[in-house]
Amino acid sequence: MGTDGISLGKIERRRAVDDVHQAIREAILDRRFPPRTRLNVEELALQLGVSLTPVRSAIQLLAAEGLVDVHSRSGTFVASISRRELEETFDIRCALECLAAEKAVFTDKDIERARKLFASMLKLRKNDSQRKIHDQANFELHEIIIRASGNQRLADMYESLQAHIAMCRLHRMDESWHSRLPQEQKEHQEIVEAIEKRDTKALVKALRSHILRAKDALLAQIEPDE
Ligand SMILES: [Zn+2]
Repeated sequence: MGTDGISLGKIERRRAVDDVHQAIREAILDRRFPPRTRLNVEELALQLGVSLTPVRSAIQLLAAEGLVDVHSRSGTFVASISRRELEETFDIRCALECLAAEKAVFTDKDIERARKLFASMLKLRKNDSQRKIHDQANFELHEIIIRASGNQRLADMYESLQAHIAMCRLHRMDESWHSRLPQEQKEHQEIVEAIEKRDTKALVKALRSHILRAKDALLAQIEPDE
């Protein structure tokens, strides 16, 4: 029977796609491939030591995530984001997080975790390797609020927004990381204090100003739309 062989082959092909997808995705998100970089399928296949097929499939996945733009004539590029798209993304993020905050029921464990994440962010020094750790802790802090809402649909929507938020952040210039840290710490402190007190009103207010300030900071770094 040949069927076992066929299904094994499929699994392996799928795995190659996943690996290629992961590799290109990381290169986009850590700016080795900055926005508007042209992606050449043949070159990528050569670099990654795979055939063209998994690269093409991975690019389709990245396009579906919004990280890559495929133009039938001019080629495939790392996506860039317009001011309008950035504003839309952050407005949705703000609405989802504030709604989550209104619905959230925080357990003692959530509060403990929020405290720990905030403390870990305070300890970080301002260099690039620690920036990744900071961004991860930041993401996890916001995720506590999303999870505490108990609303799975909201969590799914938030999850699908992440690629767009990541896309927005790609436009952030590195120099601003140092200057924005104290402000961000102050805002996170307000957020964590509101979580500790289970003060819904204060949490919504703190989240809104944190997210809208982040939006304005990113907008200041993006070129005007044509
Ligand atoms: Zn934050």
